[in-house]
Amino acid sequence: MNSTEFRKRGKDMVDYIADYMEKIESRQVFPDVTPGYLRPLIPDCAPEEGETYEDVIRDVERVVMPGVTHWQSPYFFAYFPAANSYPALLADMLCGAIGCIGFSWASSPACTELETVMLDWLGKMIGLPEQFLAGSNGEGGGVIQGTASEATLMALLAARTKLIRRLQAENPDLSEAEIISRMVAYSSDQAHSSVQRAGLISGVRMKMIKTDENFVVGGSALKEALEKDKANGLIPVFVCATLGTTAPCSFDNLTELAPICNAENIWLHVDAAYAGSAFICPEFRYLMKGVEFVDSFNFNPHKWLLVNFDCSAFWVKKRSDLIGAFKIDPVYLQYDHQKSGLVTDYRHWQIPLGRRFRSLKLWFVLRMYGVKGLQEYIRKHVQLAQEFVEFIKQDDRFEICSPVILSLVCFRLKGSNELNKSLLQMINNLKKIHLVPCCLGDTFVLRFAIGARTVESKHIIFAWKHIEELATEVLKTEGERK
Ligand code: PLP
Repeated sequence: MNSTEFRKRGKDMVDYIADYMEKIESRQVFPDVTPGYLRPLIPDCAPEEGETYEDVIRDVERVVMPGVTHWQSPYFFAYFPAANSYPALLADMLCGAIGCIGFSWASSPACTELETVMLDWLGKMIGLPEQFLAGSNGEGGGVIQGTASEATLMALLAARTKLIRRLQAENPDLSEAEIISRMVAYSSDQAHSSVQRAGLISGVRMKMIKTDENFVVGGSALKEALEKDKANGLIPVFVCATLGTTAPCSFDNLTELAPICNAENIWLHVDAAYAGSAFICPEFRYLMKGVEFVDSFNFNPHKWLLVNFDCSAFWVKKRSDLIGAFKIDPVYLQYDHQKSGLVTDYRHWQIPLGRRFRSLKLWFVLRMYGVKGLQEYIRKHVQLAQEFVEFIKQDDRFEICSPVILSLVCFRLKGSNELNKSLLQMINNLKKIHLVPCCLGDTFVLRFAIGARTVESKHIIFAWKHIEELATEVLKTEGERK
């Protein structure tokens, strides 16, 4: 493809995308395909001779679209949302065109510098204390990771290295293996599975602290776990608090956890993957009270801030903790020894070497929506969640299962888990809307997560009417069975 054809095809593709978005409502939100559907639709091997663009684009509708779950559909209420916007899509095109691999400042200075400034902008927008910002006099700074899972793992690995160095400085005879074998990290039983995985990957045992009746971990539960483990010779290294847990969207109590972690020299990381976006609205910042005492903080603009995947914002209060833990500097990656001490080389802040120019999409979105536009966006979804809550409250067959603070509503039919499983199955079999469940304790619950850019009040009304009707059917079937 030469540049003349690219100009034409690029415009065609933009039209295709705009059509996809404008008409997404007419596509069934969840596909009809069964596993293995795709292989028979395309040849066994790549073509020897190049094909035309028309050949390929035709197959997007024939091969790909029938197997797409439409996360951008206004009828998609599963998981947490995947952000999407036109400015971010355009910026991603530019990112692809520049095509740099920004592992060091010198590998593409703008890639590094824009990212540093964007993380400062974003940090200020959510009210992060100055210590986390690179442009302040502090020692902190931010970086874009691919996912919240990577951010948690990075924080845990940095905490692990920091503790090993401290203990070996105090007692040089202690081996790294011995220290790691005695390390223990903590999160809540509501933390995302990626936190448990970070423990598995890092070789640090991860204990899940039981949450209280509001699905929250507070100081006394942490203290009790620490005392018990220390008495058994274990060395606490890391706590992951969650602000906005995946199942009930609960918020761990930082004001209680932070003083304990600070006093015990334990790294406190915050996973606010979904809820972090809401902190751009001052009225939700009470949920992050105590953040000034944590060591690292993460949230995903790619969930709820209109920046397409992948864009996970991660800040540390002391950047030397990260850089010190992971720095390896082969000569072929060094550009100018004099300069590299003064500049940010983001390869030291992450697991892979290569990195895309992801800050472009953040820059486009923050500038084109503005803080006010983004605040409106978040508030609209929170309001839609309240509309859904009102519907549930008016139907006494249903109950709400955890406080609705942002745009996630956990609800169920009063009755058995089996009844609720049947309801969910019916909903997802009909594919008019798409939901996923969760378990709160032993209770099976339906999650209704609002966050698609395309969702409006009329879609919430439609979804509720649909759920209501299916509930009547499920209850009738259950009545007949009894
Ligand atoms: N943490 C929380 C609280 C989440 O809800 C999720 C995903 O929904 C994750 C972490 C994992 O996010 P990622 O896919 O960015 O690793």
